[in-house]
Amino acid sequence: MTLDEIRSWLQENDPQKLETLWKQADTLRRKNVGNVVFLRGLVEISNICRRNCLYCGIRAANSKPDRYRMSTSEILDTAKLAKNLGYGTLVIQSGEDLTCQADEMADAIVQIKRETGLAVTLSLGERSEADYKAWFEAGANRYLLRFETSNEKLFHAIHPPAPGEQARNRVEILKSLRKIGYEIGSGVMAGIPGQTWEDLARDVAMFAELDLDMIGCGPFLPHPDTPLGGVGSQESGVGMADQVILDEHLPFKVIALARLVCPKANIPTTTAIATFDPKHGRLLGLSRGANVVMPNLTPTKYRKMYEIYPNKAAGSELPEETHERAVRQIEELGRTLGKGPGTSPRFLQKAVY
Ligand code: SAH
Repeated sequence: MTLDEIRSWLQENDPQKLETLWKQADTLRRKNVGNVVFLRGLVEISNICRRNCLYCGIRAANSKPDRYRMSTSEILDTAKLAKNLGYGTLVIQSGEDLTCQADEMADAIVQIKRETGLAVTLSLGERSEADYKAWFEAGANRYLLRFETSNEKLFHAIHPPAPGEQARNRVEILKSLRKIGYEIGSGVMAGIPGQTWEDLARDVAMFAELDLDMIGCGPFLPHPDTPLGGVGSQESGVGMADQVILDEHLPFKVIALARLVCPKANIPTTTAIATFDPKHGRLLGLSRGANVVMPNLTPTKYRKMYEIYPNKAAGSELPEETHERAVRQIEELGRTLGKGPGTSPRFLQKAVY
């Protein structure tokens, strides 16, 4: 697909044409990754963060959230819960928390692998090459690091480097993660103030260029305690003709286009989408290209503290309730639950050749 084609899909408003986009994405999804929906158990292990991303509610400068970090035994308990609920993968996410030392994390990974055999996906932000290697050697399988926007100037503006450090390029980090041996996942937020339609089209083209194994995208959701909190994309677009406008279709257009450019990738219908459209978001995502759901299994007492954006879906539930709801929704759609690790067909193929 050319950049112009991607862009015109992103800006398409004709309901009939959009139906053809949803259909194409759904067909490609079925052909390449089948009717199986994989569940990934998400555990948010720490909301401690040294960064000050302008969009994120757990940025260091926000003094409102109480800060927490789960112990290794709490993480292990969550892994066992995931295993007992039938999951094949545990996704471990946190702020950029350097108090979580590489060897402690490596030890947790070793224990999770030994006691549950789950595939382990990490989403711990920007760390050193040595840390990434140590975790891979400990048994981690996948790494998620969104490049957030392919517009480098905008990225560095909303994601400033830690004090005294050089800004890093997440696309380069993704390439080195792949070299280490990880399955790599990335993605963007749609509707960031200052993001143009051209930028978002380039984001989709970047998914293809990186040939991603996993693509996670969602709408930008303003958090009131952040510098981007008061601004919806519409207002900030004043004076910027090409500003992306976040409407009800946009998050699904990004998912559908991700499926078109990376047919064999694992693509979740994300929590941000479920938060944006609580009634139908998750199901629409699954009907328009997605094949993965990531139910939040974080212990209830910590959930409210991991508030990267407000009103996060499943904010006060028990992990078992979140899980049950996901299973019901998948069954309602007539899709089947995945078993086992659910490695992306893209990665498996690569491994064969
Ligand atoms: N510290 C890790 C994990 C961050 S949270 C990292 O930086 O990779 C995971 C994702 O949540 C981020 O990559 C970002 O795309 C998304 N996110 C953060 N704040 C958001 C907001 N206000 N609206 C929508 N998505 C947001």
